[in-house]
Order: sequence, then C-alpha cells, then structure tokens
Amino acid sequence: MSHEINGAGMPDGWQRLWAPHRLEYLRGENRPLEGNDVSCPFCEIPAMDDQEGLIVHRGTAAYVVMNLYPYNPGHLLVCAFRHVADLTDLTDEERNEISALTSHAMKTIRKVSSPEGFNLGMNQGAISGAGVAAHIHQHVVPRWSGDANFMPIIGKTKVLPQLLHLTRDEIAAAW
Ligand SMILES: [Zn+2]
Repeated sequence: MSHEINGAGMPDGWQRLWAPHRLEYLRGENRPLEGNDVSCPFCEIPAMDDQEGLIVHRGTAAYVVMNLYPYNPGHLLVCAFRHVADLTDLTDEERNEISALTSHAMKTIRKVSSPEGFNLGMNQGAISGAGVAAHIHQHVVPRWSGDANFMPIIGKTKVLPQLLHLTRDEIAAAW
C-alpha cells in the first residue's frame, strides 16, 4: 500500500492498526444498539476513566474519543455529553464546542501522524449509516493517499485493543 505515515519512529505502531484482526474488544457491550436509549455507548463512556474509555479529551459540553470501529488509524469521534440525536437538537454552546474540538482534533492528528486530508461528518439518522443514531457524534477520519483501497477491508473492523490504547495515548499526549 502507498499509505505512509510520516515521523520518525512511529510508522509501525500505527500501520499495524490496519491489520484486519477481528478480536473481540474488551467491552463487547459496546456494540451499537440502534435507537436504544437504555444502553448508549456515548452516554456510558464518560463515566469511565480516560484510559478505559479511550477518551482523548473532555470538554465542557462535548468530549473526544477513539472510534472502536476505525476506518483509519486515529479515527476520532467528537460526542456531545448530552444524549440528543440531531444537529438541530444541540444548543449553540454544544454546536460551537463540537466544532472547536473537531478543529483541535485535526491539528492534533496532523502533529502526530501527518495525514494528507480528513473526512469530517455526522450521519443523521440510522438510514444515513449512523451506528449509534440516537446520540450525535462527529467523525474525524484522517486520510492518506491509497487508504481507500483498505477501507472496505478494515471499515467497521475491530482492531487490537492495545493498539487503540497506544494510539489514544499518543493523541492525548499531543492534544
Ligand atoms: Zn447517549
């Protein structure tokens, strides 16, 4: 693959995230439950400590967490703390903070792994492909040339939890 991660010393650490391992993640209950407000992963994660929850940063109205089903290494989610589904449900404060955290996430990922671009976005409603449609979250997906060839393989694939933790540590340290 033509995927290259810049920076001395770390290419292997992140490239191994591409391996399509299908090991069960430590917290199997985190499978997305569509439309189920009783067990919402994005409501449960903030109750965990940062390491356990793979939380990169906690803001006032929103937080940043590693996606358990990454499309690319460093795939982050910016989630509102509040359990609301739609962009139009957010307060101005929440919307502004999600935007600010998204911008900061881009800067941080650029420092850590020098992507060539990003996909940013929110899927609204289950029909759009949102895994957890009931709780709004913004995707921040770093992109490298050639990575699209791998997305069908690794998309929504679980990766080794210890590698997710390593990536979290690196991004949190650079935040
Ligand atoms: Zn929720």
